[in-house]
This record gives sequence, C-alpha cells and structure tokens, in this order.
Amino acid sequence: MSSAAKQSHAFDLAQVRKEFPILDQQVHGKPLVFLDSAASSQKPRAVIDAMAEFQRRDYANIHRGVYQLSQRATNAFEAARERVRGFLGAAETREIIFTRGTTEAINLVAATFGRERVGPGDEVLITHMEHHSNIVPWQMLCREKGATLRVVPIDDRGVLDLEALDDLLGARTRILAVTHVSNALGTVNPIAEIVAMAHAKGVPVLVDGAQAAPHMAIDVQELGCDFYAFSSHKVFGPSGVGALYGRAEHLEAMPPYQGGGEMILSVTFDETIYADIPHKFEAGTPDITGVVGLGAALAWVEATGLDAIAEHEHALLAYGTEALSEVAGLRLIGTAPHKAGVLSFVLDSAHAHDIGTILDQEGVAVRTGHHCAQPVMDRFSVPATARASLAAYNDRSDIDALVRALHSVNEMFA
Ligand code: PLP
Repeated sequence: MSSAAKQSHAFDLAQVRKEFPILDQQVHGKPLVFLDSAASSQKPRAVIDAMAEFQRRDYANIHRGVYQLSQRATNAFEAARERVRGFLGAAETREIIFTRGTTEAINLVAATFGRERVGPGDEVLITHMEHHSNIVPWQMLCREKGATLRVVPIDDRGVLDLEALDDLLGARTRILAVTHVSNALGTVNPIAEIVAMAHAKGVPVLVDGAQAAPHMAIDVQELGCDFYAFSSHKVFGPSGVGALYGRAEHLEAMPPYQGGGEMILSVTFDETIYADIPHKFEAGTPDITGVVGLGAALAWVEATGLDAIAEHEHALLAYGTEALSEVAGLRLIGTAPHKAGVLSFVLDSAHAHDIGTILDQEGVAVRTGHHCAQPVMDRFSVPATARASLAAYNDRSDIDALVRALHSVNEMFA
C-alpha cells in the first residue's frame, strides 16, 4: 500500500476548510460554495506557501548547476519525485516522469509505447466513459497506423461491462486505456480486476488516474497496471504539471517523447545518446516550481490522510445523492454502486447552462457542459449535464446550498 493509504487519521473538517483561504469569500454577495473540484481543486495554504517560499529562497534551474541554489532547487525537485513515487506506491523513483498533466502523460505513452506497438490491423481498446484526453491520442495513433479503436460499453448506471471488456480483449489488442474514475459519471472502475483480465491476454494497461488521485489511495503495484497518469491541479497542487508512472522495463524500452536539453547524455551532429529514465522523457526545463507545489500538495494529502478524505467524501456523496433526489424533475446521470464524489444531473425545467448561471448567482460554483466526455453525453442522450463535484473541503452545508439553489431554478422556470 502507498504511504498515504497506510496512515489512519482523524478528519477535522473545520480545520481542513480553514486551510483553503480561497473558500473564505463571497460571490454575488453570497458565501462561495465551491463544487467544481473535478475540474480543478483549490489549493491549501501549505501549497501556496511552499511555492512562494521556493521562488523566494531556492529557485534556480535544476540538474545542471554546480552552485548551491541550483543544487537546492534540484533537491526540492527530486524530493517531489520521491513523494510522487510514495503516493503512487511505485517501486522506484525512476518510474516517475513529470509531465504537464494527465493529457500530456497519455500523449507521451501513445506517441512512444503506442507508436512502437501498434501497427496496421491492430486494435486499441478504450471505454465509453473516457475523458477526451484518453480518447483523442489513441484515435490519432489508430489513424496514423491504420489500426482500429474499440470501445467497451457501459450500462445505464454508468458501469463498465466487464464481460464485453473480456470479449473485446482480442488477439489484435495492443493496449487497453481505461479511466480509474469517470469525471462525468463518478464511476470507480475495478482496475485491479481489469488489469488482471488484460494481462491474462498479454495486453498492457494505461490507467487515467486524473479523478482518482484526489479521492483514494493508489498503489500501482497492487493495481498491477503498466502506466498510471494524474494531474497535480486536481489533487490540490498547481496546474501545468502532473506525473506519469510507467514500469521501468517499458520506460527503458520506449523511445523518447520529445528531444532537447535535459534528456541526453551526449550530443554530436551524428548521434545523440539519451539519458537514463526518467530524464529521457523530460526534455527541456520543466515547471520547477509547479513540481515543488505538487510535492507540497501530496504532503498535505498524506498529512490529512487519503483514507480519511475518502471516508468523508463517501458520506457526503451519500448525503448529496439523497438530497438531490428531493429536487423535482432532477435526474442523476451516473448511478453506479461504486462512485467517487461526482453528482452529474439534468433538470426537466432548465438546460444545464441555465442551471449553472442561476447557481452562480447564489454563490454555488458547478460545472456545466459535456465535461470533455461527449461520448458519455451521447450514451445518455443528453447534450450536457450540470456537475457538482466534491473534495476534502466540502461539507453538508455546501450540498444544502446546492439543493436550495436548485429549488430556485425550478421556481424560476415553473
Ligand atoms: N482524464 C480525466 C478523467 C479528467 O477528468 C481530466 C480532466 O478533467 C483529464 C483526464 C485531463 O486532465 P488535464 O487537463 O489535467 O491534463
């Protein structure tokens, strides 16, 4: 188990809320109720301060400087890599690559591992609940290679059809790319089981962990996956940075993603010798302060306890599901038995965008639209949903405010 999972904590919600200064404000004269953490979560003081302090005291470019500042910056950067390793339960720090986020991590795997493995007539398998980030890179790869993108169906609750998955894992399947948690539905997929099914047929698995990382303990060794991607900004860290875990044997065999500085051992006009992993995949100056912020975010999560966060969110999700069932004409999209903190819904009385605008007037921030998951909208025959998503800092009063605001939407459109 990863270190975050092993610790057990008492969860002090009032204290957690206080650690997020942005929550303490009014919008349109109403207290802010932030229910859009699946898009991007807010940042605790620990992250804001760590990044400011790093810029104030230790900032320099990393890896190449012999002077003290550069060494301090390099140490902070590499300490964050070790923190990500622990967070994901990976065996070695060299299996952790810093990227711009989940999207870049998936593109990296598609453009390297994917490009080498997939050929004409081959198949790439994804699911019907993927975010566009875990669809488009594979579609591009299939187009380039003359391969076929196959899609595992979901049922009316938003649960993945595992029998169909097993059938679709065929002799031509070269990779399975699947989300751990759906951003549009909240469904939590049984990744360890899925990985075992794929590996039984020799198919490697990439897991999109963007929506799982803020909500549950992850252990890539227990899951058994080949690749795991997540974004810092959804797990209380800054945007523009994220990480990819890849099994060392894959990373060593893969060609580089981008060429440039930092990813080489030596360069002549005739030949370049690439650096060892993970640096082979980290061309150019990275978002150094962002990585330090990600490290601070994961330290905050570990100190708070992912187990405690998960328990709190689970109870809040149950409370929210029950409370929303009392709003007339509301239909939840995504009712899987195993869900993370996402409440996606449509209302008979109003379009999702109108709901979002009216809720904003009440201080309630939710996301509306297709949530970068248009195939999910098509599956449920809706153009868009309104989505309230939960994080560690939300409480029952946030849900109550949401429900009150939804009643006013109904009254307005009655
Ligand atoms: N995958 C899922 C499931 C997501 O929810 C998101 C973002 O919403 C992404 C991938 C893309 O993440 P990013 O934009 O941080 O690269």
